[in-house]
Amino acid sequence: MNIILMGPPGAGKGTQAANLVKEYGCAHISTGDIFRKALKEQTKYGVIAKYFIQFGHLVPDDYTIAMVREHLKENEFPNGFILDGFPRTIIQARELESIAKEFKFQIDAVLNLDVDFDKLTKRLSGRRTCRECGATFHDEFNPPKQVSVCDACGGELYQRPDESEEAVKVRLDTYTKQTRPLIDYYTMKGEITNINGDQSMEEVFNEIKKSLEGK
Ligand code: ADP
Ligand code: AMP
Repeated sequence: MNIILMGPPGAGKGTQAANLVKEYGCAHISTGDIFRKALKEQTKYGVIAKYFIQFGHLVPDDYTIAMVREHLKENEFPNGFILDGFPRTIIQARELESIAKEFKFQIDAVLNLDVDFDKLTKRLSGRRTCRECGATFHDEFNPPKQVSVCDACGGELYQRPDESEEAVKVRLDTYTKQTRPLIDYYTMKGEITNINGDQSMEEVFNEIKKSLEGK
């Protein structure tokens, strides 16, 4: 099963993608994670992406699409994949459709995690991310068992530099202007399922699982 997981920054995409990986054994493709890894390794995509990410802007479509294309071409997904954070623009959505035709796969579900904007800042400011495996926690809503240590792999937890107040403002604004129009795009195609992301993590996951029944 191939899924697009959409929603504003902090909506819970990474959290729910981790649940889906456990439940269905599919691969988690997070463009944010791929960019952060590229940044750490100083690859060409990392060097280009650095300044855009730091200030909360989207990395230009050409690079993002090329990177996703490469990732889909070079890896196998026997149990399907979850796209988390891609597409983020209409151009990316259209390109994904041509990549799907070329590589002969289909998108089985487009899930949109719906969370009130005023809740997102708190989710983002309390988020702690593992340097090693990318797992996310929250100081208040999902604290790790040991402070600053990842429950999953023992890696160090850190606060992402693009979670400063200023960068979060830009990211939410960027979402409104460039990514939210995708909701209409997929609604018109009759492909979207809205999920109430403003519930406990377990409740959100149950709603997702229900929506995937029979897919
Ligand atoms: P995204 O990948 O959409 O940016 P994350 O999955 O990283 O979002 O979630 C953002 C923060 O909010 C994390 O710290 C996570 O632990 C927390 N979180 C995720 N889902 C919920 C939820 N349903 N209720 C409260 N906090 C949540
Ligand atoms: P995320 O981890 O999904 O919050 O993404 C972190 C940052 O990576 C974003 O703020 C963007 O700068 C960049 N990024 C991730 N996915 C995309 C995308 N599909 N298009 C453009 N930029 C992206």
